[in-house]
Amino acid sequence: MALRRELHRRGLRYRVDRAVLPHGRRRHDIVFVGSRLVIEVRGCFWHRCPLHGSSPKANSAWWEEKLQRNLSRDKETEALLARSGWQLLVIWEHDDPFDAADRVVAALSRAPS
Ligand SMILES: [Zn+2]
Repeated sequence: MALRRELHRRGLRYRVDRAVLPHGRRRHDIVFVGSRLVIEVRGCFWHRCPLHGSSPKANSAWWEEKLQRNLSRDKETEALLARSGWQLLVIWEHDDPFDAADRVVAALSRAPS
């Protein structure tokens, strides 16, 4: 994944596909454990990005329910992370990897060390 490569190139080290919440069922794409920062890279379609989220015409009710469930789960994850003292940064699939890496660096600088 381009973002991971870019972070690595900048000398940042992180864990991938890690669970941080107590019940451990949700895994996050990129985790900076010491800084308590979680990065989630969300697919435009599956997580309904504001720019490219679309609703398929075929089987629309089924899709609506499925995509809506993803969104609820995202919201719930956001709330759980916040409650557990983790910072969450959401990166969209369509984001430029260099800009995204800049946002990660900015988030790290705000994190408690
Ligand atoms: Zn998008």
